[in-house]
Amino acid sequence: MPLIRPATLGAALLAAACSVAAEPATPAKADFRASESGYVRHWPGELPVVLSVPHDGALRPEGIPDRKYGVTVRDSHAAAMATAMRDALREKFGRAPHLVVCELSRRKVDCNRDIKEGAQGDPAAEKVWKEYHAMIDAAERDVLARTPHGLYLDVHSHGHPKKRMELGYLLTAEDLRQPDRRLDEDPGFRKKSSIRWLGERTEAAFSELVRGRTSMGGLLEERGVAAVPSPQQRPEPGEPYFNGAFDIAAHGSRDKAQLDGIQFEIPGVMRDTPERRAATAKAVADAVDVYFRTHFRTDLRNPKPAAQGR
Ligand SMILES: [Zn+2]
Repeated sequence: MPLIRPATLGAALLAAACSVAAEPATPAKADFRASESGYVRHWPGELPVVLSVPHDGALRPEGIPDRKYGVTVRDSHAAAMATAMRDALREKFGRAPHLVVCELSRRKVDCNRDIKEGAQGDPAAEKVWKEYHAMIDAAERDVLARTPHGLYLDVHSHGHPKKRMELGYLLTAEDLRQPDRRLDEDPGFRKKSSIRWLGERTEAAFSELVRGRTSMGGLLEERGVAAVPSPQQRPEPGEPYFNGAFDIAAHGSRDKAQLDGIQFEIPGVMRDTPERRAATAKAVADAVDVYFRTHFRTDLRNPKPAAQGR
């Protein structure tokens, strides 16, 4: 017994340590709604803006197997960044946006891929994947019940050497190197983008929406946040650039009339301390303010009801 007991105790402690895992990426506040599995959290809001964070999950339960292929890198500080954006928007407009966060590690599920690659056939991972997308769908339905349009922003972290915000619209780097005239005259670019709906309803040229002064990138650059695409920057050949993935394809407006979607890939220098996150978040909130007034003709302090403005 004396020989067995320490080993048994050690094994029990090891098992306990593994099952406890790390803390969730977002602080446990009472103001969120957890999914049935407990791995997805939704902070509800009243602004016509939905934020999501698929890649900052810290929880790695033993009962869900590690994924066998695909990227498993965690987006450090992405949930804290999105929370800072939510706080800045609430402070500016007196109302908060929706926020949906997956707390399960990307080693177990990748909600920004299709379910086959994201969950790799595991039923528990599939459940979490479905919960995450159902919560974003519900948030978007809530927005569209209140206002005729809105923005869906999928928040990520990147480690590229280029310290700039990369905004994804499902347009490739090569698409974004085309001259303005081509982007404006060939409807194929608009149709394949995650802001298709906005592109069809506004008088602004499509190139203006994607990289003009009043594009998200242009408004961020004007506030001191380096961003691509923007009037200042296009993705040049050989440069890293994330153009967006499953989330903005599923929840942006490419395939149906719903919120227009933009993927935000944020570099470390803009997100790795509370002060930097607050400064970045304030610039985003200010940019969102002008974006809604310019393109949606909506003052976020007093959004139009859903019956108007379609
Ligand atoms: Zn990511």
